[in-house]
Amino acid sequence: MLQCTAVTRIPLGEVTVALVTMADGPGTPPHDFTLDHYVLCELGEHDALTDHAALLSAADAPDRPALWFFWTGTDTDRAHRIQTEPWCPATLRNLDTDALLRCSFFNDHTTGHSWDVTDPLGDLIAGPLLSDGTTDDPRERPQP
Ligand SMILES: [Zn+2]
Ligand SMILES: [Zn+2]
Repeated sequence: MLQCTAVTRIPLGEVTVALVTMADGPGTPPHDFTLDHYVLCELGEHDALTDHAALLSAADAPDRPALWFFWTGTDTDRAHRIQTEPWCPATLRNLDTDALLRCSFFNDHTTGHSWDVTDPLGDLIAGPLLSDGTTDDPRERPQP
């Protein structure tokens, strides 16, 4: 499934306070942690009843609950909440490499697991690279 395309501007002050006061203790953001003003919904395409969701806290502690930003609606009628959620327990084993992939979404998410979601933007970027090895920047291709 394709990734949801919803984008929203996050309230930086509110998010920073939430990160510092996470239930699991302060100091979660690493030194180089910077917040984007805008976050992208990370879930697969979903209906209007499902909240959009973006991961806020750094994922350097995989077993600890992570801080998520949930929202519905667009900028003018947006409703949002910031809360910690445990990780989705689902895992996928790659039989070739025997690597275990963890779902990177929160527990009880509604759409497919993270490995079922394709980022359309990532595909656009990766496509020309895979099909044409002569240039590493598709934007610099000469016009035909
Ligand atoms: Zn969404
Ligand atoms: Zn999952």
